[in-house]
Amino acid sequence: MPERNPDRTLPARMMDGAAVAARLDQQTAARAAAAAVRIGRRPCLATVLVGDDPASATYVAMKRRRCARLGLDSRAVTMSSDVTTDEVVSVVAELDADHAVDGILVQHPVPPQVDERAVFEAVSAAKDVDGVTQASFAAMALGAPGHTSCTPGGIMRLLDAYEVELAGSHAVVVGRSAILGLPVGMLLLRRNATVTYCHSRTVDLDEHVARADVVVAAVGRTELVRGAWIKPGAVVVDAGYNPGPIGDVELVAAAARARLITPVPGGVGPMTIAVLCAQTVDAAGRR
Ligand code: NAP
Repeated sequence: MPERNPDRTLPARMMDGAAVAARLDQQTAARAAAAAVRIGRRPCLATVLVGDDPASATYVAMKRRRCARLGLDSRAVTMSSDVTTDEVVSVVAELDADHAVDGILVQHPVPPQVDERAVFEAVSAAKDVDGVTQASFAAMALGAPGHTSCTPGGIMRLLDAYEVELAGSHAVVVGRSAILGLPVGMLLLRRNATVTYCHSRTVDLDEHVARADVVVAAVGRTELVRGAWIKPGAVVVDAGYNPGPIGDVELVAAAARARLITPVPGGVGPMTIAVLCAQTVDAAGRR
């Protein structure tokens, strides 16, 4: 349980996502090399980028660079912004049938005319290394084997790296998206936290946050979570990544009250790609 010290005046310790991700990357690189010997080729992640959103292109490029650095191959498919759902589904289905591909990442978001859910569901559970399909979601919720959504999985690894005791703690997750808020709450619940979800219709958000031992902000609104809301001694995870880059939490003011806090950048972000690469090697190992 996070320490409770109402008189706390020390600034929070920063949770160094870059350092924790680097340790995971080291293990992934070693496992990738071993898998390559076993299966006769390097583990391979296929990325599918639809449209010309510059931020999405940057994220895909970062993911491919990390793959290369860790000894994984990557195969990039880029599709124009006017494609149909059927066209994207058919490309994903081809990659899914390709024995030289171990994992598939469809970069979110896709253009509005494309049914993102239909595209995600074209990925088989075995290759869903981004953890976005209904099958992966159900496995995650039930604690069954499967791939975890990468950002929630990264958040849990970060909390574990800092030995945050979750059992019996009150976790407040702000945001309930299918790729982030909803699954991270489920993972916290599986670790015996008592979980409260907040969202755009939540009344008195400040009062919910003020009761949290662990706060996860996953909204996409710059500094929505104010420092003054944070319970002294709480653990604060800021998954938000807004232009700046600035997170969803008012960092300096929150750090004056929290026990542990993630910076933006350098907190949750590096963990996401590290988990993606780790899960691609897991998928290759199961082939
Ligand atoms: P999203 O799909 O837009 O979901 C946002 C969530 O926030 C929704 O559940 C929404 O509630 C809730 N929300 C919106 N306004 C709110 C308010 N005023 N009060 C309380 N809740 C509110 O966003 P996302 O994809 O989950 O991403 C969230 C943030 O995480 C973004 O900044 C994104 O860039 C970042 N992110 C970072 C990584 C990483 O690797 N670091 C990965 C993914 C996302 P409703 O459900 O009621 O609409």
